[in-house]
Amino acid sequence: MNPELERRLPALRRALQAEPLGLYLHVPFCLDRCTYCSFATTRDRSLQPETARRLAEEVAEWGRALGRPAVDTLYLGGGTPSLLTVAELERLTLAMREAFDLSPLQEATLEANPGTVDRAWLERARGLGWDRISLGVQALDDTLLARLGRIHGADQALEALALAERAGFQRRSADLMVGIPGQSLSKVLADARALVATGLEHLSIYLLDLDKACPLRADIDAGRLTLPSEDEVADVFEALQEELPRLGLQPYEISNYARPGAESRHNNRYWERRPYLGLGPSAASQIGDFRWTEGSVLPAWAEGRAELDFQELDPAEALAEIPLLGLRLHRGLDWGVLRARAEALNLRPLCDAWEARLRALAGEGLAIWEADRVHLSSRGMLVSNGILGMFT
Ligand code: SF4
Repeated sequence: MNPELERRLPALRRALQAEPLGLYLHVPFCLDRCTYCSFATTRDRSLQPETARRLAEEVAEWGRALGRPAVDTLYLGGGTPSLLTVAELERLTLAMREAFDLSPLQEATLEANPGTVDRAWLERARGLGWDRISLGVQALDDTLLARLGRIHGADQALEALALAERAGFQRRSADLMVGIPGQSLSKVLADARALVATGLEHLSIYLLDLDKACPLRADIDAGRLTLPSEDEVADVFEALQEELPRLGLQPYEISNYARPGAESRHNNRYWERRPYLGLGPSAASQIGDFRWTEGSVLPAWAEGRAELDFQELDPAEALAEIPLLGLRLHRGLDWGVLRARAEALNLRPLCDAWEARLRALAGEGLAIWEADRVHLSSRGMLVSNGILGMFT
């Protein structure tokens, strides 16, 4: 274990006495690289057996170090977790069961690429206790999918959702991407309707993000493709805000919609600033006011010599994270609780300054106060980056 973290173990253990942990494992392999992706993943699967073995060891080591803490959400993300062999998935699941107390477990999510799933794998995953699946669909248009470099077509994406249901995954989510060159508003709405018609319970809407060098960015810079304008993208988000509730999926976070009671409990913990431990290359963790990210480079990570990025938040930074994350949620946050916390930390003036700005935003129709609770309005959600910037 990293010496920086080892020194903090007593404080980490104390923080976990109050509430259960969320456990995230990162599987950094993909069959091919999508043209827009800047995640730390690789196509070199020769490292997969060693990485899976090391992940299982990390799970065991952390479970021991933290005193086998209670875990109430599990998330296997990537990359492409559905590239794990059945044996690797079994080993990792067993390692989690042995190292952590899963008695309060509420949800266990697997991410999967529609181009890599088969019924036997899904059934085994379901049998191991994974009860929710999140499929990276992105679009239901073969031209757009090819532009994104996805390894699957539209039919395969719908087939994967159906396969998952037949394998016993009642809890299914899909990702839908907005802002793809050549994607029209009517196409996004048609895709959203087709996805909801499969009976899934949850939809995540992501804006295509091209902030790093990637093949799609090169095509755009060279003028071969054009991104939709900010106004066009805003129109799409606004149309989805109207359409998805009509289809039975309510917004509960800036990018996420769910049927009643079907919110992602694991993802909620990020916005509620509850503790999570991320294991695997580039995985992030936060427990109490400690936050760290593992090194992203394979094979250095698999060999246990990757650099760790560690940070201890000061009281003002930790306080700012509560509204920064909480205002992403449609239910917003109880400002009275935040104010009391600020008072206890001698940070009341900072909290009052934020409140004054949020009350001014209410005057512009971007925030809504109900007694001492505040949340962003639908219009506020559309410009949330600018609003939430006050907390960074
Ligand atoms: S499948 Fe996901 S993680 Fe893998 S390259 Fe594509 S976008 Fe990136």
